Amino acid sequence: MLVQTTNSLRVAVLGSGVAGATAARTLADRGAEVTVFEAGFGIGGRTSTRISRDGPQYQFDHGAQYIGQPKTEIFKDGLDGWIKDGSVKEWSGRFASVDGLKINDTSKKGRWVGYPRMNSICSNLLHHENIKVKTETRADASRNGEVWELRHGKTKENLGNFDWLIASDRNSGAHHRKDLSSANVKEFTDGIRDIQSVKSITAMIVFEKALNLNMDGLQFTGNDPRFGSLGWVARDTSKPGRERNDGKECWVLQSHPDAAKQLLKGKYKINEIREMAKDVLVHDFLEILPYLLADSNAENNNIDVPPIVASTGHRWSAAFPIPTQQFIEMESQLITSKRFVACGDYFGKFSGKIEGAYLSGRSAANEIIGLNEELFQ
Ligand SMILES: Cc1cc2nc3c(=O)[nH]c(=O)nc-3n(C[C@H](O)[C@H](O)[C@H](O)COP(=O)(O)OP(=O)(O)OC[C@H]3O[C@@H](n4cnc5c(N)ncnc54)[C@H](O)[C@@H]3O)c2cc1C
Repeated sequence: MLVQTTNSLRVAVLGSGVAGATAARTLADRGAEVTVFEAGFGIGGRTSTRISRDGPQYQFDHGAQYIGQPKTEIFKDGLDGWIKDGSVKEWSGRFASVDGLKINDTSKKGRWVGYPRMNSICSNLLHHENIKVKTETRADASRNGEVWELRHGKTKENLGNFDWLIASDRNSGAHHRKDLSSANVKEFTDGIRDIQSVKSITAMIVFEKALNLNMDGLQFTGNDPRFGSLGWVARDTSKPGRERNDGKECWVLQSHPDAAKQLLKGKYKINEIREMAKDVLVHDFLEILPYLLADSNAENNNIDVPPIVASTGHRWSAAFPIPTQQFIEMESQLITSKRFVACGDYFGKFSGKIEGAYLSGRSAANEIIGLNEELFQ
């Protein structure tokens, strides 16, 4: 039964990505009073959207690219709900995977994206009368008797007291971070130490006019040296809601995991990394374009590449988790005595995917609902 009025349960959620937003929404729909703290400028975590601040407002999904065919009935239902409420639409276009000289058409696989931006999924989930959202607020949590006390990590401002805490990002439990250092949740912070991350770099570029390539997304598999650092390239402008009326085209280029590892080795200065990400990915894309254009446009032979009028780079220091078996076997981690639940895409069988984050966030909320049945009638 859907209860929209608030019950007395106050829940704090650290993180507004898919896991945190799903947990928050599941609880809010059942009447809990939820406050979501987000360290970043905007909502969405890795389902993020970059919009340039200058005149033309170039827009890019620079993190997660699309939602693939659901692997579980639970996520299929969730995705259907997002489609119904208009925050997700199908991205139909031409897609291929490129392995060596073989280009395999993968257009028939279902792909869905946040509408009109990737972060619309989380914005929409969090748009609820029982949910408050505070962005640019990295919250530190400490346990005081029966309650969680939250403070702003920088200003130390008191952010309130809560009955339950959901941590949706394993980085908040990392030993070099203060977020959970006074939370006394060792069962969680000890476990996550063994989880590694795959790094990634992204370039966002704008062509002056449409690129004459009749594909909207290309996945580079294998380790063919001709593709250099590339793992994925996409015509962002071809996604629903991203169409432009000035004729320009926005593209997102993402690294192959092995390439990112090599390229980032020993590099720590963020501005230099962003420049490097942009330069390397753009160079590698321009190098292979003649081959791709010749193949995909065999009929018309037009392999002109329009000038790039804007470009920028980004680094993901923890793009995809490499979870340990312990985390693969759980969907979330409940510590009942502390009224604490951890969730995120490093849990479960579908880690590193929006589906995994969704299932984990839902599981975290259900743990709290299950333990407070008298409140969630
Ligand atoms: C480059 C890239 C491409 C990808 N492509 C795809 C794809 O095509 N399809 C797919 O399914 N998945 C893809 N993914 C993976 C997908 O984005 C993630 O699996 C999913 O978005 C993770 O959601 P999450 O909620 O677990 O974590 P996140 O989205 O990382 O959210 C965690 C949030 O918590 C916040 N936070 C942490 N600590 C605190 C604190 N103390 N206080 C406040 N806020 C805090 C962080 O700022 C962050 O916003 C991609 C990821 C990347 C990086």
